[in-house]
Amino acid sequence: MVILDGKAVAAFHREKVERRLYDFQERHIQPGLAIILAGSDKPSDLYARSLQKVAQGVGLSAEIYRLAETVCEHDLISMITHFNEDKNIFGILMMMPLPRHIDAAKVINCISPEKDVDGLTDSNIARLFSGRPGFVPCTPRAVMAILDYYHISLTGKEVVIIGRSNVVGKPLAQLCLNRNATVTHCHTRTRDLVAAARRADILISAAGSPGLVTADMVKPGAIVIDVGINRVEGKTVGDVEFEAVSQIAGAVTPVPGGVGAVTTMMVLENAVCGIENRA
Ligand code: NAD
Repeated sequence: MVILDGKAVAAFHREKVERRLYDFQERHIQPGLAIILAGSDKPSDLYARSLQKVAQGVGLSAEIYRLAETVCEHDLISMITHFNEDKNIFGILMMMPLPRHIDAAKVINCISPEKDVDGLTDSNIARLFSGRPGFVPCTPRAVMAILDYYHISLTGKEVVIIGRSNVVGKPLAQLCLNRNATVTHCHTRTRDLVAAARRADILISAAGSPGLVTADMVKPGAIVIDVGINRVEGKTVGDVEFEAVSQIAGAVTPVPGGVGAVTTMMVLENAVCGIENRA
């Protein structure tokens, strides 16, 4: 059984990002990333700070702009408009979830598609679905980066995805379809999850449910990608019962050290693409 090492994949992409950023420095371009954090969601705060640290580590200036939980939609949109017009800002990241009184879809769609490095605007989603170039959401990209790093082809394979959120499950299914996989999409209303999962050559869980994927759901030799990030008794775990599944699968991503480790680097890679398109 192979452990699919997200840290190795992230290091491989980090080197590429650093090289591309070095080129910008040579051309005296100082690209910036604006991270907007509205409210006091703890995981978002942690993610924003870790993103900032990694970005600064590769030489990309990243500022976190904090807004109170009580911020009104108008002020949030004004901030986005300001960054849309700022020539030194090449990427805008809106931390989710937004406070409940904010219309998230409306706010996200105010981000200029050219600066939407998370690929969440309707415009970028439409591009992904119609096969035109645009920003692709970072977690699905991280899954593809892991498969590519380990030379795992999707062509003709049975891919089963558990989870159908707009940020992970749905764009991931589209990326797999674009690579000629036969995709089955499962969710909370799926009648027989075990039977569906057992068909998978590549089983991807993005449900956010610890212990959901058990050994009896895995076909011998299958590739298992665990996108889930859950806190259980103070520890970070995925959706997959790692020990038991490792005995059956051909390869598995660990949590932590799997998809999450690559996602941050995909944000930076998207940001660098944004700079190259606009510098
Ligand atoms: P979400 O809650 O928006 O969506 C979860 C999806 O999983 C839903 O479509 C739901 O139908 C399905 N689901 C939930 N429980 C299920 C069950 N028992 N059986 C079948 N389907 C089930 O979550 P999300 O934003 O898509 O995130 C999913 C998971 O991925 C979470 O654990 C989240 O923390 C994690 N995540 C990881 C990264 C990363 O970089 N690794 C990034 C984003 C999200």
